[in-house]
Amino acid sequence: MRALVYNGPKDVSVVDVPDARIEAPTDALVKITTTNICGSDLHMYEGRTDVEQGKVLGHENMGVVEEVGSGVTRLEKGDRVSLPFNIACGHCRNCMQGRTAFCLEVNPGSAGGAYGYADMGPYSGGQAEYLRVPFADFNALRLPGGTEHENDFTMLSDVFPTGWHGTRLAGLQPGESVVVMGAGPVGLMAALSARIQGADQVFVVDMQPDRLRLAEQVGATPVDFSKGSAQEQVMEATKGVGVDRGVEAVGWQAHDHSGEEHPAGTLDTLVEVVRATGGIGVVGVFPPADPNGPDPDMREGRMRFPFGTFFTKGQSMGTGQANVKAYNRQLRDLIINGRANPGFIVSHEMSLEEAASGYEHFDNREDGWTKVLLHP
Ligand code: NAD
Ligand code: ZN
Repeated sequence: MRALVYNGPKDVSVVDVPDARIEAPTDALVKITTTNICGSDLHMYEGRTDVEQGKVLGHENMGVVEEVGSGVTRLEKGDRVSLPFNIACGHCRNCMQGRTAFCLEVNPGSAGGAYGYADMGPYSGGQAEYLRVPFADFNALRLPGGTEHENDFTMLSDVFPTGWHGTRLAGLQPGESVVVMGAGPVGLMAALSARIQGADQVFVVDMQPDRLRLAEQVGATPVDFSKGSAQEQVMEATKGVGVDRGVEAVGWQAHDHSGEEHPAGTLDTLVEVVRATGGIGVVGVFPPADPNGPDPDMREGRMRFPFGTFFTKGQSMGTGQANVKAYNRQLRDLIINGRANPGFIVSHEMSLEEAASGYEHFDNREDGWTKVLLHP
């Protein structure tokens, strides 16, 4: 089958690889209809992880069941499904508590597995014609058949639940205000989620004008950090009060307007602008170490952020990968009922064969390249 593989920093290509196949009775084989390029893929693409050469990438997958193993009872050939980026067993302690991003079984020695991702287990990704789905009864979310809402449903595997998770980690309540750091797909989904949950005012911070325009489209107030400090702009807009909640949707490669990386830059802002006793949800990725990165502390996985102010203000913080299964069913139904349209962020749809150019444009954060879908 054809699949996109990682060759080295800024080098991916679509090549022939061995066909994905059923390997365990609980597996399903899914023919991929849509698979997205994610900001998380860019950390690997830029050579900032230890992902191995030849790995098939792709964790934002949906498609149609092609074949099921003998132990699969809930799915059958022809079912249209969304596949959470987390691979989870369904029966370990964390899965039993709904924390499927921290499954203890699928990636021994670590907590959490995913398709096509560095340090997340041996699983191939779905930027390919077919994908092997382990524990398929547990992991696959059934969708209405046909092709309707494809660009909305394809956000259910990751960014819509992840944006939603950011607001839940922050403890957002109806009528509250929130600052979202980052207007990439995850930040935009956090803004959409905050609106759906009844947030009063939503600020979205970035420096990419096209992305900030999309934030405005969901009723958020854009804050452009290339035009002055985000802290000052938010404090001024809230008459010095600050906001109730903050969502970090950038990760450790956060940079200033000149492009220089400051791993703690977004947390510096959030600790400053979130009111005393407010909450911060961190869904942008921070790795245990970044050995080849520019920041000496972060090379050892340490980060300087104002913990003293965080403590003094009595703030709370929640972190980590999104437990996609905790939300994807409900978010699917919001899409079906016309109450959520996460597909509004899609800017480009390409064939799998064109994937390498999709990576290049998206990685450059070129104007208008907000979210790239691949249709194998
Ligand atoms: P992206 O790279 O497309 O978007 C990041 C955005 O942040 C860009 O628009 C960039 O201009 C902006 N940015 C950079 N520095 C900034 C700063 N100092 N202040 C404000 N904005 C800044 O990526 P994405 O797909 O939106 O993903 C965002 C992060 O979320 C990544 O770290 C990704 O790995 C992570 N992620 C986490 C999960 C999870 O489950 N927790 C799931 C998906 C993605
Ligand atoms: Zn993703």
